[in-house]
Amino acid sequence: MFNLTPTELERYRRQIMLPGFGEESQQRLKAARVLVTGVGGLGGTAALYLAVAGIGKLILVRGGELRLDDMNRQILMTHNWVGKPRVFQAMETLRAINPDVEIEAICEYVTSENVDRLVQSVDIALDCAHNFAERDRLNAACVRWKKPMVEAAMNNMEAYLTTIVPGQTPCLSCIFPEKPEWNRRGFGVIGAVSGTLACLTALEAIKLLTGIGQPLLSQLLTMDLNQLEFAKRRPYHDPNCPVCGRVSQESERSAPKQKNPRANALTFTK
Ligand SMILES: [Zn+2]
Repeated sequence: MFNLTPTELERYRRQIMLPGFGEESQQRLKAARVLVTGVGGLGGTAALYLAVAGIGKLILVRGGELRLDDMNRQILMTHNWVGKPRVFQAMETLRAINPDVEIEAICEYVTSENVDRLVQSVDIALDCAHNFAERDRLNAACVRWKKPMVEAAMNNMEAYLTTIVPGQTPCLSCIFPEKPEWNRRGFGVIGAVSGTLACLTALEAIKLLTGIGQPLLSQLLTMDLNQLEFAKRRPYHDPNCPVCGRVSQESERSAPKQKNPRANALTFTK
């Protein structure tokens, strides 16, 4: 199936040698298709770390053109690309870094028209969009299609991260039933802050896909990078959530209690 080529075995040798990782985890990454929405300081950097880790296919979704004030954090971009669609430059940079990864770039925002098609075509989604309208659409579609979603958000020097597995964990709507004010370009950001969150976001996806480590299931990591204070909270899983309530109740009734070490890893059908 997803056998590794000699080049891949060498390229990923240093992660394959991690205890508990091995060639099996690398094959799982190669088999995986991952959606990244909002390919900016957060999503672009997360996509970079997924590409170098050897994800089989990345689908990048982001509308709009690169602006000069994106350049303090969007590390896939080059200065000469200002004024052109970001997502195509992101694809070019990632291809140059790792030609073994298949990249699809879609210059669109997440809309009610495209979201189901996007989510259906992947194993896992990374929610790195700027606004709650796109985030809510992606969350609802991931619940509808029972696809895991890594939820990463930031505001100034604060960052938030959780991993949502529909039916098993609270969804975005459980965690934020009322939407905070979220101005697209209304908050300041240092590239190292979005990059810090992005690395953890990519790592969550890698954990979910391979089964290594412990992903942030039913836990919300909050980070205050001004004070370097990190905390984990347990968000409320609303049994009557309008988005995930029905799926959660179904899965409560039917879930077998698994104990094997790769129980959190996704399974692939091909
Ligand atoms: Zn919910």
